[in-house]
Amino acid sequence: MKDEKVLQIVYALDFAACAHSTQRRKGGKREPYINHLTEVARLSAEATGGSDATLIIAALLHDVLEDQSMHVTYEILAEKFGTEVADIVQEVTDDRSLPKAERKRMQVVHAPHLSRRAKILKIADKSANLESILKTPPLDWSLTRKRDYFNWAAEVVAGCRGENPWIEGVFDERFKRASF
Ligand code: ZN
Repeated sequence: MKDEKVLQIVYALDFAACAHSTQRRKGGKREPYINHLTEVARLSAEATGGSDATLIIAALLHDVLEDQSMHVTYEILAEKFGTEVADIVQEVTDDRSLPKAERKRMQVVHAPHLSRRAKILKIADKSANLESILKTPPLDWSLTRKRDYFNWAAEVVAGCRGENPWIEGVFDERFKRASF
């Protein structure tokens, strides 16, 4: 039986793997970037009991607009995966024209105004990043830098609370494991 949602999830996985094929995570193990995307998709899927294919697809694609060298635009995403998915990805994408510190500040400011799905995705993304810093931190990150990242992530997540207790619990558990 043809299931359009299953097809779309697999297309998104393939699209993300191709778009990020040359990218690696910043951590000491330099994991392939796709591992980050599959973790965020897995957390988003678990948070919603596998009931929200649109969210899983957006999770797989959530970083695809971030790096302009990949030449993926909102219009391309909308054409391939629909405007619902493209809108969620757009919501969780920083404005690259701003300096880094300002982009980070804007994430805190925007968080409370995100849609329900974008909030879940944002918490899943930050949870995945905490786990990476706990397990395979970038080699050149000081304790202060790690602590600053955790505290900033917690501020963003604070604005995303109230939609999905399970994903909030994942974030909180990881946050508490920090010894820095
Ligand atoms: Zn991400």
